[in-house]
Amino acid sequence: MKKTAPSKTDQLFRRLGLHTPPDFVVHLPLRYEDETQIHRIAALKVGQSAQVEGTIIASDVQYRPRRRLTAVIEDATGRLALRWLHFYPNQQKQLQRGTHLRVRGEVRQGYNGLEIIHPRVTKSGTPLAKALTPIYPSTQGLRQEVLRQAIANALQTSDLSDTLPPTIRQGLQLMPFADAIRFLHNPPPQVVQEDLLEKAHPAWQRIKFDELLAQQLALAKARAERHRQNAFALGANTQLERQLRQQLPFALTQAQERAWAEIRHDLAQASPMHRLLQGDVGSGKTVIAALAAAQAIANDVQVAIMAPTEILAEQHLEKMRPWFEALGVNIAWLSGSQRTRERESSYAAIENNEAQLIIGTQALIQEKVNFKRLGLVITDEQHRFGVGQRLALSQKGQETGQKTVLPHQLSMSATPIPRTLAMSFLADLDVSTIDELPPGRSPVITKLANAERRDEVVHYVHNEIRAGKQAYWVCPLVEESEALQLETAVDTFEWLQQALPNLNIGLVHGKLKSAEKAATMEAFRSGAIQLLVATTVIEVGVDVPNATLMVIEHAERFGLAQLHQLRGRVGRGGAQSYCVLLYQPPLSEIAQQRLKAMYETTDGFEIARRDLEQRGPGEFLGTRQSGLALLRFANIETDQRLLENAKQLAIDLPRQYPEAANAHLRRWMAGKEALLRS
Ligand code: ADP
Ligand code: MG
Repeated sequence: MKKTAPSKTDQLFRRLGLHTPPDFVVHLPLRYEDETQIHRIAALKVGQSAQVEGTIIASDVQYRPRRRLTAVIEDATGRLALRWLHFYPNQQKQLQRGTHLRVRGEVRQGYNGLEIIHPRVTKSGTPLAKALTPIYPSTQGLRQEVLRQAIANALQTSDLSDTLPPTIRQGLQLMPFADAIRFLHNPPPQVVQEDLLEKAHPAWQRIKFDELLAQQLALAKARAERHRQNAFALGANTQLERQLRQQLPFALTQAQERAWAEIRHDLAQASPMHRLLQGDVGSGKTVIAALAAAQAIANDVQVAIMAPTEILAEQHLEKMRPWFEALGVNIAWLSGSQRTRERESSYAAIENNEAQLIIGTQALIQEKVNFKRLGLVITDEQHRFGVGQRLALSQKGQETGQKTVLPHQLSMSATPIPRTLAMSFLADLDVSTIDELPPGRSPVITKLANAERRDEVVHYVHNEIRAGKQAYWVCPLVEESEALQLETAVDTFEWLQQALPNLNIGLVHGKLKSAEKAATMEAFRSGAIQLLVATTVIEVGVDVPNATLMVIEHAERFGLAQLHQLRGRVGRGGAQSYCVLLYQPPLSEIAQQRLKAMYETTDGFEIARRDLEQRGPGEFLGTRQSGLALLRFANIETDQRLLENAKQLAIDLPRQYPEAANAHLRRWMAGKEALLRS
């Protein structure tokens, strides 16, 4: 059969996640319009979505202050003004005096009484709708009528039979699926719209339950599959662990010990670990990664550590090198910008098992990288990687005789995910949390300053550096254009050089060659550079404890998570650190909220909670991070009881009615399951 390209409409459907008929069936309305009755003009209220029928008694095109079309419609009870700010000539013709029409739209308070702007106009006397008219979530260029028709077709042709056996459904006091679906797509006019909008109606309860059940079933399935997979069992090695710990200038915090115990236990299992290590910036995740790597290497397997940027990967290399060389471990380095010869030799060392620890960027997931015995994959700042990239690395397993052996996976993230949210999206992942900072850290003090006080701030930077400290100056974010971003960075650098002529100032930005970047970072680490002007390339992971001051220009342009990450670059040593957020008024409401949050707290979990509040889960996680499509209908916070029931049934259903469990997954999860395994 010839494959044809998807039509324009199909492309729009896909943008909404609508691929198969079951997808359309569960694409449910956001709200409804009532076209089932004619309202009397005298009884209309402001804000009401109304439909009236009557005679046009006046219509006119006015040219001042702007060209517009106005008309007045009258029924037996009163008159209503209609207004169009843009219109076609035939609309004007439609509105000739004496014509009978039906018009529909939202009632507003006009200059002289009530009015409807841009009403929809139909012939009077056409039969009224028998159900409320659904308004679906749509996308630009896709008309409601088209979507409505496609959904109506899907409802006609799809199997709406219940996936829950009757006894179970009745036991949970749930409505039949088909009834619930038909009801929500076409509710009868007498229904209380509030119940529908707040998803409190029994039909919504059923749908939300189904969605939660599907999610729980899919998670349980992914977990069961993982337990059937093979991994090298990497047992604890107390001697190597002790040797590594002896090199550390500090003792682990209790929270680090707890997280490490969980990881150590998982590594010793013969099925792959999928664990997320989350902890605020500066909580000390790196050393946990090193301990895990050491335990794996003690079991004769290779370990890959992947970081999202070169700066960060290099920093891991610098940090790990002394620790691991002392243990007699060979390290290989891989990055996109390294010379071919160097890269080839890394490939060879990886392939013949000469290198046990491999550190690098995304270059690690290149096809040419063939691990000899990959036992553990560690990804730092995992939220920066797409689902696909993580999958690619986790699939670099080995064929040993009959079976495939997959690596254990440890991901690290400094964007703490609120627990409730984690439950609603996380793929098959266990979570360890470091909820305590190393001792002796005093929280960074954050100051807000109007951009007019830039000169004062420069003075302040100067004082701090004269006292032997170092500082970061973060350039304004220019999201629209990379070229402009670069220009801004260079300008800022030159301006600061003029303002502070006797300081050593460095500049890092995304367009530098990686060798230059590395040299600059090294100079900053060693103290040769005192003030580092930087773009957001330093956002993640950079660790220079002597840097105690950060200035962020145009702080209002950054997101909350980004500001928190940036601020996390200071306050990493024992000395009191400061962060100055320069802002340019006027501030939008949301920018004010963000700066206020930064001023009020340094706790990553609290910041994440506020961020979530301000942006909502979809945007908070971004598509890159949401391993699993977020719940669309159910709400983990308010639907606790449904969730508990769904969790229980996700255990019972596959045992008692495996067919039903599969049918349920097919209806809700077609095509989404691969995401769960990443
Ligand atoms: P992050 O969790 O942000 O990756 P790092 O692992 O970079 O944090 O650690 C931040 C700093 O804290 C590093 O300089 C590290 O050496 C230090 N550190 C880690 N654990 C401890 C500890 N238990 N006591 C004191 N300092 C620690
Ligand atoms: Mg880190």
